[in-house]
Amino acid sequence: MRRVPVADRPTIVIKGGTVIDASGERVADVVVVDGVVKAVGPDLSADRTLDAAGCIVAPGLVDVHTHLREPGKEEAETVETGARGAALGGYTAVLAMPNTTPAIDSAAVVRQVLELGRTAPCDVYTSGAITVGRAGEQLAPMAEMAELGVKVFTDDGAGVQDNRLMRRAMEYAVGLGVTLAQHCEDDALCGGGHMHEGEWSARLGIAGQPAEAEELMVMRDIALARLTGCRIHFQHMSTARSVAMIRDAVAAGLPVTAEATPHHFTLTHAECASYDPVFKVNPPLRTAADVDALRAGLADGTIATIATDHAPHTPESKELPFDQAPPGMLGLETALALALTELDMPVGQVLAALSWNPARVAGVEDRHGRPIAAGEPANLCVFDPEATWTVRADDMASRSRNTPYEGREVRGKVRHTLLHGEPVVMAGEPQR
Ligand SMILES: [Zn+2]
Repeated sequence: MRRVPVADRPTIVIKGGTVIDASGERVADVVVVDGVVKAVGPDLSADRTLDAAGCIVAPGLVDVHTHLREPGKEEAETVETGARGAALGGYTAVLAMPNTTPAIDSAAVVRQVLELGRTAPCDVYTSGAITVGRAGEQLAPMAEMAELGVKVFTDDGAGVQDNRLMRRAMEYAVGLGVTLAQHCEDDALCGGGHMHEGEWSARLGIAGQPAEAEELMVMRDIALARLTGCRIHFQHMSTARSVAMIRDAVAAGLPVTAEATPHHFTLTHAECASYDPVFKVNPPLRTAADVDALRAGLADGTIATIATDHAPHTPESKELPFDQAPPGMLGLETALALALTELDMPVGQVLAALSWNPARVAGVEDRHGRPIAAGEPANLCVFDPEATWTVRADDMASRSRNTPYEGREVRGKVRHTLLHGEPVVMAGEPQR
């Protein structure tokens, strides 16, 4: 991280906003000095003023599911462009997924990604792969990655298919004190499928992936969490029965957490009728009943985290026919607005799902998702909850353009993002 000498760093006041954090809500100015919140209260002043009139001042958002594509697919995204999009979306921390080339499955690649993130406009953390090359055959050297601070391991893009190997990974993870995150997908049931198996796949003549392919792995991993005591985080949950199983597991006191993506709680498989691969994602968009169940799961706290699964792909690859195009869509710059626009939840609960809950899942709760109080790190996001705007891929920082929300009007716009006290986004503009 670039450091400016303390004496040259101006003091900043975020003026006139409503402060919301895990402890509640109050109207207050926030003074930031040298990367730290110095004071929170009425009528404060400083060298520089950031206008927060009409805005909410919140802990910066944390994404536990970001594909930064570097190393290996820099034409789709780099750590820097992904992090800039994150900052524009109000995020101060992202957890990179390991399905890069090479996979993030060793200390050497972990070091490489952390190094690339050092000058990025948000904190870049990385997950590590559970298995070597994400091939699902032998455990990756999780201990050497954990020593570098990796707290979450996943083969995301694929689920660990072998029951016995998954059990061993969980036992190993318990010893290391880390969390396993799972992309729940039974390969044998999904093989050859490109969208949700149901009414629309039948009509469109596109091979489908049944909901059961996700649910079987959720069921298995809940059983294995019970057996081993391992913390397991379920990634991008997409079906009503997955939500129901997680609700029961949480009620039974098992160490289980889960995330839902904005696209899974806003879009259905009917979108695939356009044959536009921008709607191709994995797990696939499901039914309206599944969308309702995800929204209910978010509202009652069963699913405590909203994650983007930000998955950039170049226009060339997304212009392929539906069955040949890669799955995935952009998410970092639209997640907050989609949650505010679409979810019938109080703003504080939306922020819990976007900030302090995911901070705990990622193991970064010492720096992110903190209360806004004197002495805390100044990782903050200031947004206007009422401002409406139209989603335009061309306006995004990402190197890719694959947003399914092109032209959609949404509510909730990030005005400023502060990373360790530095305004990396001011008045909606990236500062670096
Ligand atoms: Zn995934």
